[in-house]
Amino acid sequence: MRVSRLFMATQREIPADAEIPSHQLMLRAGLIRKCASGIYAFMPMGWKAYRKVENIIREEMDRAGAQELIMPALLPAESYQASGRWDKFGPEMFRLNDRGGRQFCLGPTHEESFTEAVRDTVRSYKQLPVTLYQIQHKYRDEKRPRFGVVRAREFVMKDAYSFDVDEAGLDKSYDAMYHAYRRIFDRLGLDYTIVDADSGAMGGSGSQEFMVKSPVGEDGICFCDACGYAANEEKAACPVPGKKEEDLKQINKIHTPDVKTIEELIAFMNTTPDKFVKTILYDIDGRIVAVMVRGDREINETKLSNLYDATEMTLASFGDVERITGAKVGFAGPVGLKEKIEVIVDNEVSVMSNFIVGANETDYHFENVNIGRDFTPDRIVDIRNAVEGDPCPKCGQPLKMARGVEVGHIFKLGTKYSDALGCVYLDKAGKENSMIMGCYGIGVSRTLAAVIEQNHDDDGIRWPRIVAPYEVVVCPTKVNDEENMGLAEKVYEDLLKAGIDVLLDDRNERPGVKFKDWDLIGIPLRITVGRRASEGIVEIKNRTTGETSELTADEAVKEATAVKE
Ligand code: ATP
Ligand code: MG
Repeated sequence: MRVSRLFMATQREIPADAEIPSHQLMLRAGLIRKCASGIYAFMPMGWKAYRKVENIIREEMDRAGAQELIMPALLPAESYQASGRWDKFGPEMFRLNDRGGRQFCLGPTHEESFTEAVRDTVRSYKQLPVTLYQIQHKYRDEKRPRFGVVRAREFVMKDAYSFDVDEAGLDKSYDAMYHAYRRIFDRLGLDYTIVDADSGAMGGSGSQEFMVKSPVGEDGICFCDACGYAANEEKAACPVPGKKEEDLKQINKIHTPDVKTIEELIAFMNTTPDKFVKTILYDIDGRIVAVMVRGDREINETKLSNLYDATEMTLASFGDVERITGAKVGFAGPVGLKEKIEVIVDNEVSVMSNFIVGANETDYHFENVNIGRDFTPDRIVDIRNAVEGDPCPKCGQPLKMARGVEVGHIFKLGTKYSDALGCVYLDKAGKENSMIMGCYGIGVSRTLAAVIEQNHDDDGIRWPRIVAPYEVVVCPTKVNDEENMGLAEKVYEDLLKAGIDVLLDDRNERPGVKFKDWDLIGIPLRITVGRRASEGIVEIKNRTTGETSELTADEAVKEATAVKE
């Protein structure tokens, strides 16, 4: 491709609303273009890199025996109503009506469509197992679209679904996907961890996520170096600590004026966060519940949502908090609530004694509160996030924490969808059974961003060769000089003939301008035809290592074609 004909524009300034490196670089390098919040177009250079990621995924899916097809993105409500997800998806689902008033949605994920297709195609155990997949746009009206294509409202997912006659078959299908995923992320050169993941309230017998390690990751990962345990923070179990026996002290109301935050309260009471229990009110599908965790802990909203099988969960409104506690926000506690609501207590709180809580009265707290004597919880459960140093749920050694971007998710679904949609097969005895399903997703567009997240420097992207939009750029420094341009053309033609994705920067620009562009876009090899063109000598520079060497044009072509991955 001749750069003078290339549809592209780079940008020097960091776009204002781009917070993370991959988002900034994708915009600056002109790979993507924002159309609306969470909705992006891929420009030619971005699309080329994207397609390479997609093809690696496709190759590995095919190699694992999965068959590609394509479902519509526009789907009738009936399928999702039958599975119960029309309501369950809540506001995340994009919904629309046709001219006759029939309801549709834009597919957020396609379990229903695949289950129906298999239901209507497969009769007998002889036709199983089968694994199907597609690579397609998904639509989710995310609460917080951000980070460019990392959390978008329209994004590309590779989603696969397996159908088996029994659990042993599912294990095999799942295993095939697990290994395919490892090959995909290995080939992409990503540094990733496989973690145990939350399977949601409605079960499934197991699930793992592929996390690309990155400080900008939205997911917390807990891992144990001692035994190899690794789990999403959403899922990581917090073991119940032992109880320290303490004499129960007299409950006491304290005036705590102008104390708004937990830090201020701790300073005011001259205590430590582990003597304080915070009470947070949630609105879960219209019902208010109080959740209590130690002052320095975070409530795990996934565990909470699973506990209630929630569709919509938010913090309770100020109005609800004031009505139920009789106080301003910030003074909620379990003693003396004005309305009966469920009180959920974290395991860790259940072994505490003489702790401090809000008094359900503005500017007051209680100290020396004790469970059983002063209030009775409705449930005592594991409802907090694990933190660094917590004992590993497997071996008890201290856990470590890291951040990750979830690029893939594999999931043993069981019969949830086959039961709901009547996806059955006839076994050897002629009896009907529900098929056992698995589902397997990769965020294709997110994976591209994750590659950038792990491969960049101050100057721009450093593409691994396998996904670089172009592998080599040939830069003549004087396009109007016959000798200079002639040699550049020859190198370019030779590389084209060798099957290399190559650019010829034939723009009449200063070399500095060209170099800046290619460093930003991150083309792995740059061949500069400059001062020594008359001798047939060029310079080859590796974007990632920064190494340069002077070679004859033929040697440079040889070197650029030698390493393909
Ligand atoms: P997350 O926790 O990040 O919202 P999810 O659990 O909703 O992810 P799945 O439904 O398992 O994700 O989707 C499969 C894959 O699709 C994810 O592993 C992720 O890589 C990708 N993905 C999910 N949501 C988005 C999004 N909004 N933008 C881009 N990719 C996404
Ligand atoms: Mg999500």
